[in-house]
Amino acid sequence: MEETEFIWMDGKMIPWKDAKIHVLSHTLHYGGGVFEGVRFYNTSKGPAVFRLKEHTKRLFNSSKSFQMKVDFTEEEINNAIIETVKINKVESGYIRPLIFFGYGKMGLNPAGADINIVIAVWPWGSYLGEKPIKVKIPEIIRVHPESTHSHSKITGNYANSILASLEIKDAGYDEALLLDYKGDIAEGPGENFFIVKDGKLQTPILGNILPGITRESIMQVARDEGCEIVEKVITSQDAKDADEAFFTGTAAEITAIGQIDDVSIGDGKMGPITTKLKTIYTDIITGKNIKYIDWLTVVN
Ligand code: PMP
Repeated sequence: MEETEFIWMDGKMIPWKDAKIHVLSHTLHYGGGVFEGVRFYNTSKGPAVFRLKEHTKRLFNSSKSFQMKVDFTEEEINNAIIETVKINKVESGYIRPLIFFGYGKMGLNPAGADINIVIAVWPWGSYLGEKPIKVKIPEIIRVHPESTHSHSKITGNYANSILASLEIKDAGYDEALLLDYKGDIAEGPGENFFIVKDGKLQTPILGNILPGITRESIMQVARDEGCEIVEKVITSQDAKDADEAFFTGTAAEITAIGQIDDVSIGDGKMGPITTKLKTIYTDIITGKNIKYIDWLTVVN
């Protein structure tokens, strides 16, 4: 990770190296934090944050899972994110807001622990590379939706993502594709999943997956382009029989999938619909597509 100069902590800009917490902070032990991953891109008007309000809204919704009393409003956090991007003078990169239970309480009920918020920013290029990737369905399944709040971006949920990632990387694959408790496709460790079959897009229904902001954006773009899209149960066989497959996510953006387990998807190359959506998405995030300009917040 490339360091930047400042991290916003509980309302103050702190030098990166001084942004520290106590080792007995509650979230470090039990995974009860909530966070976001946001990207900003270089546009002709300077750095611009993609879907800032939607990310902050999801962060606040996630915080409700843990009944966290946040001392800031969504608008104040939006402004703090903009300030953190601005002060660090980075043209494009990643933003990590995190709300967590801090010091002052041990035991599983977090009541009494401080609520801390940090916002960090750093330059971050492509997450999974530009070429179609090889994904593997791991043994480990996505956490049961009644065992956690799948729609919230809870730090503890990511233990499941870490285990899946470790499992498949040992087998030489790029990323995991997790099944849900019923044995159908859920999502990647940090990405939503789409397939193209006979010119139509399909993506797993909500309920057991994170409602991705990129997922929602791509569904809207696809509809605007006249491409039919359905949210449905997708089996692993459906996925392997697809003409095209791709992941969406803030970090992963749109990443083509060329192989699932030992099965090649299409001819293994990025297909025409994935290519078209990726091209439109790239224009949108860099401010070249005026139709979706409201999705960008210029940092100035
Ligand atoms: N699923 C999971 C589990 C994720 O962590 C992410 C990344 N936030 C996504 C899907 C994609 O969500 P988004 O497009 O909002 O980044």
